[in-house]
Amino acid sequence: MKYLIIALTLLSTVNANALTFNNYLKKPKLVIVLVIDQFRADFLTRFQKTFMDEKVKSEVGGFNFLMKNGAYFPNAEYNVLQSMTCPGHAMIMSGALPHENGIVLNEWFEKKTNKKIYCVSDDEYKLSPRRLKGTTLGDELKNVYKSSKVYSIALKDRSSIMLGGYRADLALWIDNDEMKWTTSSFYRNDIPDWVKAENEKLVKNYKLSKENIKEAKKDLATYLGVKITVDMAIKAIQEEKLGKNVSPDILAISFSTHDMSGHTNGPDSLEIRGISHVEDREISRLLNVVKKSLGSLDDVTVVLTADHGIAPNVETSQANKIDSGKIDYDEVYKKVNERLTKKFGKPSKDWIQGHRSFHFYLNEENFTDKPELKALVQAEMKTVVKTIHGVRDVATSNEIDNGKFPIGEIGEQLKRQYLAGISGDVILIPEPFYMEKDDNCTTHITGYSYDRSVPLILMGKNFKAGVYSGANVIDMAPTLSFILGILPGSNSTGKVLSQTLGL
Ligand SMILES: [Zn+2]
Repeated sequence: MKYLIIALTLLSTVNANALTFNNYLKKPKLVIVLVIDQFRADFLTRFQKTFMDEKVKSEVGGFNFLMKNGAYFPNAEYNVLQSMTCPGHAMIMSGALPHENGIVLNEWFEKKTNKKIYCVSDDEYKLSPRRLKGTTLGDELKNVYKSSKVYSIALKDRSSIMLGGYRADLALWIDNDEMKWTTSSFYRNDIPDWVKAENEKLVKNYKLSKENIKEAKKDLATYLGVKITVDMAIKAIQEEKLGKNVSPDILAISFSTHDMSGHTNGPDSLEIRGISHVEDREISRLLNVVKKSLGSLDDVTVVLTADHGIAPNVETSQANKIDSGKIDYDEVYKKVNERLTKKFGKPSKDWIQGHRSFHFYLNEENFTDKPELKALVQAEMKTVVKTIHGVRDVATSNEIDNGKFPIGEIGEQLKRQYLAGISGDVILIPEPFYMEKDDNCTTHITGYSYDRSVPLILMGKNFKAGVYSGANVIDMAPTLSFILGILPGSNSTGKVLSQTLGL
């Protein structure tokens, strides 16, 4: 009897924590991935009281509905050295870190061609995901279910392409020269008629002409940008009958407007509060269309996250007595050139061939006859750049090649994002609240909490509602792979967020 009780207790413990096979078979019919570009973790909590109620009569709300009904991680993390759009979107769907998926920056410098390389540029197709190494959530879904559909939508091409991956039926974005929805022939040769119809609406509403495109494009950074994005998502749901298929479909949407407004106005502006309000209402509009189309949201999984956060404006930090400022590339170049020439003599080519996002690329021609000089030049450059106000540390490729990373978490963050040949020879790491000087009033290229912390919500029948801690954004895709019964992306190293599944 005693043994029987022990055996029964053990059995019930095991059963209580395991997902039954029958429950594991219950897969969502539609997965909606919502990414808000530059949506820092605290926006949801700061503005929570001003968002729509969880439910309004028979309709569902926006953020409050997702926060209250989903597994909500208020502070999910990226934990890489430089948070930005292309790496963020790549991590979301690949479940892999930048050094694993190849997308380490939005744009980098290529010495051989003396050109800046865009993360989605492609010589054959103009734009494509081919710089992304390995598969995404959507790719793996389509590898298993032949009839599954994958659609991605964003105003920004890089966001849509990284969400769409290799096998998207269609990745849509706004063509900057024409202010019309477009895709790449990598996905398909022509856009469907329902996309053409949306473009006709844009032409009509904006009376689009060559002369006024620049002016009209400004609207993309306002509430209208959010509306245009949701209009297109609703069209995709209706026209492609997403969620009505025999196998699960994915619709991934990125709200680029938030980032466009954030760079000009800053995270503490009325504009960002206003855009967050509009996103709340527009997400509610989208969810209610899905609810109506499928009869309920029972078979829908909704995921919400962001690609990165944002630093407060320099003026705001300074007003709060926090040391903050901008680092001027002209100053870096001037100091570096003076010091290197003084120490090593006049070079045959400029010492620095190019730079991007605090990565500096040295001119190889100066080292053709003296390869040993390169490490010495890097070391000297490190010494001089470290004297610039607002610089915390400097990493050189010579140090990294020899396994010497900056001490502590900064070094770990760099390891996750460093790729020889893409990353610079010399990488500047700013102090907190310091950023590069450009036309923006603020930006997001560090690994500090304000840049790396974003919300993550997983809502649907497979997830246990509640507030959780301890997620990395790369955990999202493998968690969805688990509930969909498919393989994680090929390079994925994220972990299944078992606690959200009640495991
Ligand atoms: Zn940005």
